[in-house]
This record gives sequence, C-alpha cells and structure tokens, in this order.
Amino acid sequence: MKNIHVRSTIQSYDIVIGNHIRHHIKDQLDKNYSSILIITDSNVGKLYAQDIHDGLNQKNIFIEIVDAGEQSKNIETFYNLHTKAIEYGLDRQSLIIALGGGVIGDLAGFVAATYMRGIDFIQVPTTLLAHDSSVGGKVAINHDKGKNLIGSFYPPVLVLYDTDTLQTLPPKEIRSGYAELIKEAMLSDSGLWNKLLSQHLDRITPADLEQFLEMGIKIKAEIVQQDERESGVRKFLNLGHTLGHAIEADLGYGVLTHGEAVAIGLLFAFYVSEQELQAVLPIQELRDWLKRNEYPFLVNTDRIDELIDLMKRDKKTEHNQIQMVLLNKIGDPVTHIVEENKLKNYLTSFVER
Ligand code: NAD
Ligand code: MG
Repeated sequence: MKNIHVRSTIQSYDIVIGNHIRHHIKDQLDKNYSSILIITDSNVGKLYAQDIHDGLNQKNIFIEIVDAGEQSKNIETFYNLHTKAIEYGLDRQSLIIALGGGVIGDLAGFVAATYMRGIDFIQVPTTLLAHDSSVGGKVAINHDKGKNLIGSFYPPVLVLYDTDTLQTLPPKEIRSGYAELIKEAMLSDSGLWNKLLSQHLDRITPADLEQFLEMGIKIKAEIVQQDERESGVRKFLNLGHTLGHAIEADLGYGVLTHGEAVAIGLLFAFYVSEQELQAVLPIQELRDWLKRNEYPFLVNTDRIDELIDLMKRDKKTEHNQIQMVLLNKIGDPVTHIVEENKLKNYLTSFVER
C-alpha cells in the first residue's frame, strides 16, 4: 500500500493506493459520519458498490446509481442527487463517496461541494484515467454549451485507489488513462517515460500499474501543489489537450475516449515542438508505440479548418492567439504561442505523415 500526501490551501488529503483496499475503507476514515451516500454509475455500481458498503462500519448508508457515461454530468442528475441527499436526511456531518471514473468523481464531488455549502467527500477511483481527475480538487458538471463549465475547486478528504478494480476496465478505457500517464511522463524527467513505453497494454501486470499510477499521481500532485488554481504551471497538464479536445469535440463526444484523443494531441505536441523549438524528441517511438497498442488515429485532412477553429476556443487562447504546451525536451515544458497559419500547415503535414 502506498500513501501520497497532497497539500492544498483548501484542504490537504491523502491518496492511498493498494490492491483490494476497497474492502477496508473504514480503516481509512478518521471521523464518525452521521450518514454516508455512495454515488456510483450503472457499470461500476454492480461490480463494487456492495464491497464499499460492506467495508464501512456504519448504519446509515445509501447508494445512488446514475447512468454510466458523460451525459450524467448534467444539471438534472446533479439536482436529483441533491433531492436524494435531502430525502435520505444527509446533514453537515455526512459523507459522500464517489465510486467510479472521472464522471462520477466530478459529479459526486460537485454535489458534495454544494450540498449544504459543502460536506466531506471521498474519491474511490475505478478507472486509470481517474488518477488524473481524482487529484487536484477540480469538480464540475457540463453545461449544454460546453464541458465542465459549472464547477469549483473542492478537494476530497481522501482518495482510495484500489488497483484491483482496474482489472474489469475495458481495453479502450485502459488506453485512455494510460495516455494521461504518458502525458505526465512527458512533463517530468522521472524515468516514467521509458517505463511506460517499454510495456504492451495487453500484458501489463497489476504491480506495474500500481507503480505507474503512483508515479503519475506524484507528478500531477507536485504540479497542482505549486499552482492550485491554474494560473501558472498547472497549465502544463494541458499538454496534448489543445488538439485532443478539438478532436473530441469535432468527432462528437464518445467516438474516441478522452485519452485516445489526447494521445493524438501528444504526438502533435511533439511534432510542433520539433518545428517551433527545434526540439529533438522521441516522436517516432511514441508513434510506433501508439500503433502497436491500437490507439486509433482519427484525424482527417478535410477537417483541418474545423479543428483550428476548435483549437482557438481552448482556454489557453488569449487575444485570439493559440497557445500550446510544447516541450524543449522530456521534462521541460513551456507554453508557446503558435501563429494560426503555421499551425494549419503543421496540422496538415502531421495528418498526412
Ligand atoms: P468514466 O467515468 O465515464 O468511465 C469510463 C467508463 O468505464 C464508464 O462507462 C464507466 O462506467 C466504466 N468503468 C469505470 N470503472 C470501471 C471498472 N473498474 N470496471 C469496468 N468499467 C468501469 O470516464 P473516465 O475516463 O474515468 O473520466 C472522464 C471524465 O473525467 C470526464 O468527464 C472528464 O471531464 C473528467 N476529468 C476530470 C478531471 C478533473 O481534474 N476533475 C481531469 C480529467 C478528466
Ligand atoms: Mg485530460
């Protein structure tokens, strides 16, 4: 079992990583809560909700299951969960447990942040991607006009990461989370890059995953501790996301997983770094690895203009100038303005390669 402490100006917390630890969640609680609401989704609920329930030593435990998928991060589901919390009689000494991937972490976290002006919540992440979403304290739901537009900074009191739950993840979801780990490896010179790219996703062991998760979480935690509210270095975590988000939006959400789209964005960030900064980067190594591991490359030469327009809507855009996170080398990120006409040329030749 590993323990990583994350400092936060709002509230510091521990991330506990281990195999089968979901069965002993009560050992990690340092308060006696009046009631506990477990919020989960329709896939995860049937696999793990009972284990969490049985791992708590408590009378008033309630379970709410929402539909699996991004569409549950909406205002109606959010409101319904508040209604349930009121009906179950949750008070300010109650706890919410978010059991699931990033969707549940964001949704249940935002319910916890707003219910009676904020009650404690614990993240029990069950996807590889959630190593990213469960660390850093951002919680949100979507607005019809855009993703994560309604939310806040609200750290959990604890993150309990049971690596055993990752065994049931579909391969597409493993690919998704692993791409964010590769991103973290690119932002740090910790040696994680070599470790990650020497693996094949079909043959990865739980022990390896545990090690990678720990390293990835440490890198992310280090960055968010320096810049909790994203005014500086936290922007680096957006590496690969300028194009990644554009691809996701252009294809329609759900065609690629978030991480699959980010993987293409990471490759593009390497390419633009070579062009703009004359950086020497392992672009071919990444390209080959992604191919071997069946990451889809869904970018089309006749969507370049649409993608550029979408990239302009990135939150890093200032005065209509597109900013990307680029790399001088692995472990040395910078933010960099890329002129629109150059970006268009880069994207065209990137897609044709
Ligand atoms: P997700 O929560 O939708 O999970 C992906 C799919 O896997 C779902 O169908 C889910 O039911 C299923 N699943 C989850 N755990 C499983 C398990 N152990 N076994 C079998 N199936 C399982 O998606 P995600 O990729 O984990 O998270 C994406 C969300 O995270 C997005 O909404 C994104 O905005 C958010 N996010 C937030 C932050 C943040 O800082 N708050 C960071 C990154 C991403
Ligand atoms: Mg991401």
